[in-house]
Amino acid sequence: MNKHDVVIAGAGPAGSYLAYKLKNQGRDVLLLEKKPFPRYKCCAGGLSKKAYDVLFSENKNIKSIVEKTTKKGLYVRDNKFTSVNPGKELIYMTYRADLDNFLVKMAIDNKTVFFKDNVLIQKINRKENSITFLEKNKEKKVNYKILVGAWGNNIRFNKMVDLYPFERFDLSSSWEGPAGPRFSKYSNDHSLAQIMKKYPGFVCYIFPKSELITAGIFTSKYPFPLVWKNVWNDFIDFWKLDKSIKPHYAVIPIRDPKKPVARDNILLIGDAAGLADPFVGEGIYHAFISSRIAARNIINFFKEDNYDLASEYNKDVDRNLYDVLKWARVYEFFFNHFPNLSFWAGSETTLGIDVVNSFVTGEIKYNEVKKIINLTKNRFLGKKSS
Ligand SMILES: Cc1cc2nc3c(=O)[nH]c(=O)nc-3n(C[C@H](O)[C@H](O)[C@H](O)COP(=O)(O)OP(=O)(O)OC[C@H]3O[C@@H](n4cnc5c(N)ncnc54)[C@H](O)[C@@H]3O)c2cc1C
Repeated sequence: MNKHDVVIAGAGPAGSYLAYKLKNQGRDVLLLEKKPFPRYKCCAGGLSKKAYDVLFSENKNIKSIVEKTTKKGLYVRDNKFTSVNPGKELIYMTYRADLDNFLVKMAIDNKTVFFKDNVLIQKINRKENSITFLEKNKEKKVNYKILVGAWGNNIRFNKMVDLYPFERFDLSSSWEGPAGPRFSKYSNDHSLAQIMKKYPGFVCYIFPKSELITAGIFTSKYPFPLVWKNVWNDFIDFWKLDKSIKPHYAVIPIRDPKKPVARDNILLIGDAAGLADPFVGEGIYHAFISSRIAARNIINFFKEDNYDLASEYNKDVDRNLYDVLKWARVYEFFFNHFPNLSFWAGSETTLGIDVVNSFVTGEIKYNEVKKIINLTKNRFLGKKSS
């Protein structure tokens, strides 16, 4: 039986970035992935500037998988169109197959990080610290010192390791096709967010790539209002998109902040820990942040005797993300209760636009209330925002 210091299950942004952070750390890491790579992943493929910056600081070649960078936002509230141009990069568009493949390649070196895709995990034995999986129809069993769950929204596995930190789920969809006659004049440089009065709590989006666009709908209302198919149909009618192409739907797990994301020698990262932003459903950035936190705790575990891995990881996640995600819920509450007013404030008022763009770029975090107040003061005193 093979032995590995760390086994990571799932090679999305969370799993691969963690494997990358553990590369050359004197440890042996096995990254296991269910699907054959490169693989399709239901996602809009928008890297916010803050998420892009994390990767750019590690590897400048990330540029090679960016399809387009949008600096402008197009906001549509019923029939009111507002184009916002903050003059800075906001969202870096990519296809998830490309991004995730790039990240896997960045991680593996076949000396300290090994990768196996197209494997089917059958059993996790927590007493024995072992995983059994099928690889090319052959059963294999490996031992781990630490197991990391990075399996995204495959919540069956959360149950398997008895770590189910979720409170609820966001719902989103993704559709790829041509921009159509109505959006094509914006598709060069705008990303779109749209609400329709008829469907409170839903946001529709378009993220343009170089040839195609990715369009979809999102809601953080749970249980999901049953009208999601009507929202999608009205949205594609509005933009005259190709009806013969069907959207993919997927859920984004959202953490109950009171529940742990680790126990004993098992840690959860990214969506498997429910760490996506509950307000807008952005998950790639927090996948990176949780991987970074996991990496430093794993490194400490191997360095220090009696390091209480699960407890330190839980505390570190809460220290870094608890407040941010708590504030995300405050914005989400306002949006779900006052959608028209919130959308108007964030897309049609200069202050709201500045705040929203600062959230996207990472200049201001949701919980940095002082910075928001300073921005407000500067705005009213007529100073340029810093
Ligand atoms: C429609 C939609 C649009 C979205 N758009 C955006 C966006 O534009 N920007 C953004 O930041 N976020 C977006 N998100 C959220 C984002 O996709 C996720 O938060 C992000 O992918 C989480 O990364 P992860 O690595 O935790 O999980 P994933 O990306 O889901 O990766 C998990 C990996 O684990 C594999 N896996 C699953 N089960 C097993 C198993 N048993 N064994 C081994 N491997 C397994 C899967 O095949 C997958 O490769 C969107 C989500 C949806 C549903």
